[in-house]
Amino acid sequence: MTATHVPGLPVIEDGRLISTNPATGEEAGRVPVADEKAVLAAVERAREAALWWQGLGFAGRRTRMLRWRSLIVQRIEELAELTHRESGKPVTDGLIEATAAVEHLDWAARNAKRVLGPRRVRTRLLVAEHSGHLEYQPYGVVGVIGPWNYPIVTPVGPISGALAAGNAIVFKPSEYTPVVGQWLADSFAEVVPEHPVLQVVHGLGDVGGALCRSGVAKISFTGSTATAKKVMAACAENLVPVVLEAGGKDALIVDADADVEAAAEAAVWGAMTNAGQTCIGIERVYAVEPVYDRFVDAVVAKAGKLRTGEEIGPITMPKQLDIIRDHIEDALAKGGRAVLGGADAVQAPYVSPTVLVDVPEDSSEMREETFGPTLTITKVRDADEAVTKANDTPYGLGGSVFGKKNAIRIARRLRSGMVAVNGTLTFVGMGNLPFGGVGESGFGRIHGDDGLREFARAKAITVRRGPSLLPAMTFERTPAQVKQIVKALRLLYGRKP
Ligand code: NDP
Repeated sequence: MTATHVPGLPVIEDGRLISTNPATGEEAGRVPVADEKAVLAAVERAREAALWWQGLGFAGRRTRMLRWRSLIVQRIEELAELTHRESGKPVTDGLIEATAAVEHLDWAARNAKRVLGPRRVRTRLLVAEHSGHLEYQPYGVVGVIGPWNYPIVTPVGPISGALAAGNAIVFKPSEYTPVVGQWLADSFAEVVPEHPVLQVVHGLGDVGGALCRSGVAKISFTGSTATAKKVMAACAENLVPVVLEAGGKDALIVDADADVEAAAEAAVWGAMTNAGQTCIGIERVYAVEPVYDRFVDAVVAKAGKLRTGEEIGPITMPKQLDIIRDHIEDALAKGGRAVLGGADAVQAPYVSPTVLVDVPEDSSEMREETFGPTLTITKVRDADEAVTKANDTPYGLGGSVFGKKNAIRIARRLRSGMVAVNGTLTFVGMGNLPFGGVGESGFGRIHGDDGLREFARAKAITVRRGPSLLPAMTFERTPAQVKQIVKALRLLYGRKP
């Protein structure tokens, strides 16, 4: 690599993608870059593998997935260390991230049969001679496109659901974290050596685009809203369904009866973990007047203790530093005040914790995803105003509420897919809860029952179990039978409720 190489910026040399650490520039590894032909070949191989994998049934897949889970747990330090080397995030952040991935893998493996397996459904009176059956069948080959900020858990979430449902996967990791992506595919192949059920293809955005057009039956995308739109447009060409996990601008509301210290601790964690590079990271706080001052003081005290290079790792994608700087500068120029950090917080590759107050609602720091360790705190009259302001965004991914009496009611009113009450980000750690957004944060769900159904098609089957008493669906019915059908309908459904 040349001396002018920017640490963390991936480079392609001789057909290989070289991934480097954003803090040190040290090489984390190199992987082969796929072209369109290689993507198509991977999908072709996956088709065969999908048939074999589907044929294993829920029990066979469960055993193999749980073996993979155990292997990841046995090597969790190695995986966290690799994630640190590649993305720069602290090793402990890598460990916690891997923990969440293990939870999703375990839950999906154990619950797929219950959620997707064949079952009888209750029959309906007008077609009582037929029994109803429902099952969820796999798509075949699913394409998974992942981001760099959580290179373990963001792909493992959809991969878990898709594998448990019986699909084979072709996974395109972010160009910033290909080595972690390769590790996932390699470790899976150790426990499932028979067929390439989980393959990885590397490269830049064009490789993701090629995957969308490769004939996969579904795409699961996690990344920015702008790219989500491109992915959906590419998939529309062949009516390939998509699940889109995109960006966010999540808010935390602190109500009057909140435990202020606990709210501050969770706000700092939710905003600054992974250096704020978290889709469900807290970027805005709305605190009601009676607790506002105490809350600001507590946040500043706690965030002020965090050190760059220790708890706060580097910004993984170098160009994000400009966005973070722009947002801070815009907030200050429009009348905001920094009570911690501020104008000179951005010192590549780090950003020191920054807490801003009095930031106008129309500044980029309030409206766009900042993706850095910054937090705005706004004083509001009451919870109603907090909800209105929190919802005034095109995004709607997660969120948080601190309070007692009304906290759950407030949580329900937040326009988002997930909310943590008296915590932040906690919903991502529960394998049985669906994860996904509304509006510009995307649609569809990963994790939980809904996340399993996302990777399978509902298949309805009816089976005749006797002759028809009221034959409606045949040309051989008599006028008298039609009259009887109408009579039965009146009896059953004609009365006003
Ligand atoms: P990007 O949208 O830049 O990239 C995501 C993935 O899409 C990468 O693998 C990228 O490849 C690929 N890609 C880029 N262009 C195309 C294209 N035209 N067609 C198909 N694929 C393409 O997102 P980031 O990697 O920067 O991730 C950060 C974003 O992800 C943030 O907005 C964050 O909020 C969001 N996110 C959402 C989550 C959620 O669950 N809702 C979770 C985590 C993050 P390459 O990297 O090679 O360009």
